[in-house]
Amino acid sequence: MKNAYFGEFGGCFVPELLMPPLLEVEAAMREIMPEPEFQSELEDLLRNFAGRPTPLTHCPTLSEELGLDLWLKREDLLHTGAHKINNTLGQALLAKKMGKTALVAETGAGQHGVATAAAAARLGLRCTIYMGGEDVARQSSNVLRMRLLGAEVKAVENGTRTLKDAINEALRAWISSQESTHYCFGTAAGPHPFPTLVRELQSVIGREARARFLEMTGRLPEAVVACVGGGSNAIGLFYPFLGDAGVRIVGVEAAGTGDPGCFNSAPLNLGVPGVLHGNYTMLLQNNDGQIEPSHSVSAGLDYPGVGPEHAWLHKTGRVKYGMVKDANALSAFHRLCRAEGILPALESSHALSYVLDHPKEFRGGAVIVNLSGRGDKDMGIVGDALRGGKTY
Ligand SMILES: *Cc1c(COP(=O)(O)O)cnc(C)c1O
Repeated sequence: MKNAYFGEFGGCFVPELLMPPLLEVEAAMREIMPEPEFQSELEDLLRNFAGRPTPLTHCPTLSEELGLDLWLKREDLLHTGAHKINNTLGQALLAKKMGKTALVAETGAGQHGVATAAAAARLGLRCTIYMGGEDVARQSSNVLRMRLLGAEVKAVENGTRTLKDAINEALRAWISSQESTHYCFGTAAGPHPFPTLVRELQSVIGREARARFLEMTGRLPEAVVACVGGGSNAIGLFYPFLGDAGVRIVGVEAAGTGDPGCFNSAPLNLGVPGVLHGNYTMLLQNNDGQIEPSHSVSAGLDYPGVGPEHAWLHKTGRVKYGMVKDANALSAFHRLCRAEGILPALESSHALSYVLDHPKEFRGGAVIVNLSGRGDKDMGIVGDALRGGKTY
């Protein structure tokens, strides 16, 4: 397998039975994806089904308050409410061209499940979504959305009954169904070639942002900022800027409550290297090699690992990775709502919070924050926090 590594990170640490379908995906990336027919069909789906290109919105009120020039890349305006549809449409189309008739996928909070179900319905593929039993109970409206879109939702009752267990179960299911089925992995992590495949499909975010900013201002921004869960929206924004030495790049991990010893979702800042879900990366892991539970107020960031390319960009120092606590993300959420009339996802609020809390780091420059998704899905959590009397 070529290009399976980012420095020492990445690779393909899977049972032998998973190698044939992974090699098949790698071959399809090489042979099918570059074809003009694939590219034009994907372009059509992204434009006319998902709603690309997304705008780059200037934030006049916050820019004034912060003494910098704040811009938002509006992935929240896409169909199904987040950047995830860029990836699922691309993988669903690839699966179809590979002759597959079904998709299998994992989901945590249900956002990737909904985006996969929508892409499968659009392209006429059967769809099975694995979801931790705990998450099925917590995210009933997304379970209903997936079912309405024709997907079968299977509850996983192993382990902590959350995302990590759902991924293990979906990989297992793929082993026995690989003839007919493609595994539509949800973020830029997992075994090779998924980190590269998902990055390629999400890089449309950074390509559009870079071109549009140049067109509007005649120059490049001083910085680009995105939240990092598994790392797909972040690598999608960052990748086209990696060669621009003058552009600072900041990824933001979720620090959880911030109490000493609390659970978090910040493996780059607080984790150790190890293997999870088929790749060598940074992980929340204890001394016995057990994966630690993760936590974030935003379900989409709640993952104990991170994509291997981020582990490498962290190690080389090209990208800086900060941390934001639950309370600061909630406070950024409220500030954007009132100042600019946009309800951001709590995931994206982490990225925004980093800029709101460290304006001096950006020295009056132009900053593009990736608004990875819309906040409507988070009304329950935001409402609970308000009713708890917290003055975020
Ligand atoms: C799922 C999700 C994320 C986190 O996933 P990444 O792969 O790290 O991008 C971030 N924002 C939103 C809105 C999400 O739905």
